[in-house]
Amino acid sequence: MFRSFFLALSILGVFSMVVSAQSVSDEAKKLHFSSIVMDTHDDTTQRLLDPKFDLAVRHTDGNIDIPRMRDGGLTGIFFSIWISGKTLGPEAVKKALDQIDAVRETVRKNPNDLVLATTAADVRAAKKQNKIAALMGIEGGHMMGNDLAVLRTFAALGVRYMTLTHMENNEWADSSTAKPEHNGLTDFGKDVVREMNRLGMIVDISHVSDKTFYDVLATSKAPVFASHSSCRAICDAKRNMTDDMIRDLAKNGGVIQINYHVGFLSQAFQDFEAAHPEVRKELNAELKKRCGDDEACSDVTGQQVVREFMKAGKLPRVDWTAIVDHIDHAVKIAGVDHVGLGSDFDGAGMPIGMEDVSHLPQITDALLKKGYSDSDIRKILGENTLRVLAEVQRLSQSMNK
Ligand SMILES: [Zn+2]
Repeated sequence: MFRSFFLALSILGVFSMVVSAQSVSDEAKKLHFSSIVMDTHDDTTQRLLDPKFDLAVRHTDGNIDIPRMRDGGLTGIFFSIWISGKTLGPEAVKKALDQIDAVRETVRKNPNDLVLATTAADVRAAKKQNKIAALMGIEGGHMMGNDLAVLRTFAALGVRYMTLTHMENNEWADSSTAKPEHNGLTDFGKDVVREMNRLGMIVDISHVSDKTFYDVLATSKAPVFASHSSCRAICDAKRNMTDDMIRDLAKNGGVIQINYHVGFLSQAFQDFEAAHPEVRKELNAELKKRCGDDEACSDVTGQQVVREFMKAGKLPRVDWTAIVDHIDHAVKIAGVDHVGLGSDFDGAGMPIGMEDVSHLPQITDALLKKGYSDSDIRKILGENTLRVLAEVQRLSQSMNK
């Protein structure tokens, strides 16, 4: 009886409609898998520090591993080198170097799947060889220990961007999530930006205060990007960018890489969290139960718990289509040449339907359905990021002549 019931449903097309709610058209698959697909911000590096974690194996937790990157058609990924902004000085430098080593060792151990990339040409070559390009970005200027020699060492090891601050101010730049101390960038902060231009490192303005952002635009000779920020007009978070900022970033030739974090995508989610601190407490208690003090575990499990809470109605539901809303808004404000993808995978709360990197082709499908052209979609998926990378490199070469 059940069989005939389901047969009847499938004949009616109802069943196929239900299961294909997130299906991807053949046209979208063809476009997606032939495109350069970049992700400019990924926190999986924390997991790479665990000798038991193997990126080559398909995992049921977290957002990233090689099999799922293949499923998602990812061409290039910026592994974020991150430590808390409260850790400073030589310890911060040492921890950053450990993470750079972890990324490089992961590439060395997976030569059939990964290749270290530092230029746009490297990424295109990786695509041709059917490999995934691994790039690196430093998330927080505190890791250079106020020393340009350390910045130069990071660049020599292959790091291609630095987010000037994390959640805290450092000694030369104000963060968006701390009380302003420096009125933006200090004179040394401007030297850091100039040295990054010379070294061919992209200046990343995610996390910095609005004033720091404008000081960067006035100082940098090269285009800059926001490696993982979304639109403040849709969700009023300090970590997101106002329409004016997005417009000015575009004038500079830069790119806003849309962040998939539920708290940056949805105003309803943000408002609810602010109004209900007890839910955050319940969430943290649940996390403590599952992870103890293990930070890497908290990063990957935290978002699972958030999604469980959303599905149970304890938090407002945020669906993956909100990512497309932010992309579409940024395109309307800045033009299609200035928008890209910066997931924050393995470091933030992913929305329902974007549980991991394998879901990326849905974005291509959704943009096609919205009427975007193939070439515009390719720009958003990765070509804009490669343009900035190439532009920054070109300027660096001209400064070093
Ligand atoms: Zn971040």
